[in-house]
Amino acid sequence: MERLERGINLLRKESLWKECFVNNSDCSAGIIKAHSIQNNRILKQISRDGVIITLKHSITPSQIEIKAENVGRGIASTFRGFCGFHDGRIFKATDLFEYTLDNLEQEFLFAYKTFAKTYNDKASAMNFLKQTCSLGAEGDAGKLNRYFTDSFSKSFLIQNSFRAYLRYKKIVDQYDLHRKSLNRKLKEKSYDGIVSDVIVLPARHLIAVSSTFCLADYYKRNRYDKEEGLKPLMLTIFPQGNETVIIMSYFRRHKRFYSFIKDEIVSKTIEEQKLILSNLILMYVENFMISPVMWESFSNKKRKEIESFYKQHSLAEYTQTLIKNDKVNLFE
Ligand SMILES: [Zn+2]
Repeated sequence: MERLERGINLLRKESLWKECFVNNSDCSAGIIKAHSIQNNRILKQISRDGVIITLKHSITPSQIEIKAENVGRGIASTFRGFCGFHDGRIFKATDLFEYTLDNLEQEFLFAYKTFAKTYNDKASAMNFLKQTCSLGAEGDAGKLNRYFTDSFSKSFLIQNSFRAYLRYKKIVDQYDLHRKSLNRKLKEKSYDGIVSDVIVLPARHLIAVSSTFCLADYYKRNRYDKEEGLKPLMLTIFPQGNETVIIMSYFRRHKRFYSFIKDEIVSKTIEEQKLILSNLILMYVENFMISPVMWESFSNKKRKEIESFYKQHSLAEYTQTLIKNDKVNLFE
């Protein structure tokens, strides 16, 4: 079992997407490790002795396991998605200054980085699956054996890769259009092309999120129009001072679709908002960090509940309600 996970991790590492999200003639040489969640201001608050907690998947042939793991602050939430020039230049307004309400440039930049991180994850996953398919198709035992020494792992992976590859390719193709649109808006400073609904919780919760996702079954409920394709929601959460900032961003052209955020999230009571956000994070988010202090303050029973609910997310058991589980409040 461990061998399968080791093989997957090695192949995944070699398939990482390393390209600047802007990718134009201004790019400097080399792609750096960029933090999707701001390191000095945000991750520092959440870490204890340089360590942060994240929930991680580990894959075995029979199931997917979820475990809370320690990650070093230096590498937590990093991705190779920008060249040094663009990483240093684009994000000054969010890296150097605290967030202020209604600052369209900052809200745009949070959404932009969150999208870039998820784009990088999806493109890396597509690369990984493509690599696996081509290794399998070549029938080159020599090459595959570099990663997987047992035939069970090889066939498991090959069998599961092709359909998944096609799925990811479709997502990345659609995300490419959004990427072009975001880069155009950035260049023209058309920050109002992104709309953000913001909630500020009146307490400092040691949790950070930077993740883009699509509310799968909410699409159906809202009569999802296939022609229009994926409508990404960019979610950014971080503590600031004695408060916690939640920024939910989407493209202006999807404003009507996302009108339910105002009615069904922003206008709710704080306690309901906490539950809705916890459910959204655990059902859809792949990049979130919790302070060890906060994680340890949860009872054993609650930690187990959170891990097992998060596991359902990885098995794509989506829901048509915003609160599916009222025992997984991450904001207490
Ligand atoms: Zn660049």
